[in-house]
Amino acid sequence: MRELCKAAERARGAYNKAMEEAGNIRVVCRVRPTLPAEDEAERRAAGEGKELPPPPFEFDDVNKAHLSLVDRQRYPPIMRRYRFAAVLSPSSTQAEVFEEVTAIIDSVMSGVNVTVLAYGQTGSGKTYTMDGSPRDPGLISRTVNALFYKIQSDMPAGSKVRVHCSALEIYLEQIHDLLASNAKSARAESVKGGSGTLGGGGGGAKGGAGKLDVREEVPVAGVSGYVRVHVPGLVELEVSSAEAVEAMLERARACRAKAATTANERSSRSHAVTTLHVTVTRPGDTPHRAKLHMVDLAGSERLRDSRAKGEQLKETQAINRSLSALGDVIHSLKSGEAHVPYRNSKLTALLRDSIGGNNKVLVVVACSPLTKSASESMRSLDFAERISETVLGPAMRRATSAQSLLEKEAFRFNSFETVPSSSLAVLSPVQKSSEEEHRLR
Ligand code: ADP
Ligand code: MG
Repeated sequence: MRELCKAAERARGAYNKAMEEAGNIRVVCRVRPTLPAEDEAERRAAGEGKELPPPPFEFDDVNKAHLSLVDRQRYPPIMRRYRFAAVLSPSSTQAEVFEEVTAIIDSVMSGVNVTVLAYGQTGSGKTYTMDGSPRDPGLISRTVNALFYKIQSDMPAGSKVRVHCSALEIYLEQIHDLLASNAKSARAESVKGGSGTLGGGGGGAKGGAGKLDVREEVPVAGVSGYVRVHVPGLVELEVSSAEAVEAMLERARACRAKAATTANERSSRSHAVTTLHVTVTRPGDTPHRAKLHMVDLAGSERLRDSRAKGEQLKETQAINRSLSALGDVIHSLKSGEAHVPYRNSKLTALLRDSIGGNNKVLVVVACSPLTKSASESMRSLDFAERISETVLGPAMRRATSAQSLLEKEAFRFNSFETVPSSSLAVLSPVQKSSEEEHRLR
């Protein structure tokens, strides 16, 4: 982990600069690899000895932040080209993904709120990217490790750092505490975890179970533009080592999995928010408080069955509303609109003090590599483009054959121009389709 942190540190200067230029919203795209069973199914679908259709994504070895996507299931096929802060191809490792976000540690330590969001349809690799596996941990573990490495090895003498952790789920627009039922045992372990916190004064938990809601407070009297968000009653456990956080997250995942058995596939239909609350006091300085939210968003896919009723319909409406609200908040901040619609969903209300101002937002848009998922991937990338800083030239082209289109466009590939963010207010034809309008508004 030490090596990993050092390597990550090298990327920070460039990253910070890019982040400033990007207006504090950075969007990266990750396309996961095809799974062995999916490979097998594609071969079977193509027929014995037949050639497989070309994959929907094309990555650019030269302009690594570019990718193109062809949806051949539409007629005529649609091809779109995108550029993001970074594009992570199916061969990308968890460590490479972490390198894209590593500088958030410095931001958090200096009092800036940071939100990392994994966006994409169910099955696109959001949870793999955020949680990973014990053998190949994801962004959350890597970030927590790097944070504690920094606390233990890279702070001026006499500094005090306290870290509290909370984990919640937003399902059907209601907040559920994923640590509440375990608060007692977690608290005991947190105390056992001991002295990793610099001057941290042992472990401790705030909060408990009960009905949870988002509250806003104005910490500086008379300065109404500056709002701090909190969730009264949410368990926040003090943690003093990466291992203590890991143990806590295991409990949160178990709690989430238990809930999933009562509501079908609930983990894909809810937003999971892991938050580290960090307070840093350097000698002779006032304390800096910051929140680091790491969010595994609900699946962004459309509801296939228009006859869906009951829970399924309610779930989809709640997800649509909150993901649209998220897009609207980011978009209105980028456009400099006076009113930012934070209150349109629980998710945006919760993130109110962390999206906007000096705070930083990183969005990892996850995509499935499958041909049958191309249209959902395109919707995800359109969403990502809408909230990211730059768009590529004319957004959508049609052709009778996607291949001829690729050839026709090839010569332009190196000459894209950056379009100022203000021009994002003009939506592309794809986004203007009625379907899309419904989804985005
Ligand atoms: P989501 O959370 O978006 O629904 P998952 O993270 O559960 O998607 O990923 C779907 C499947 O793909 C899982 O079996 C997961 O292990 C696998 N997967 C996702 N990303 C990768 C990756 N980068 N490398 C290997 N397997 C992956
Ligand atoms: Mg998931």
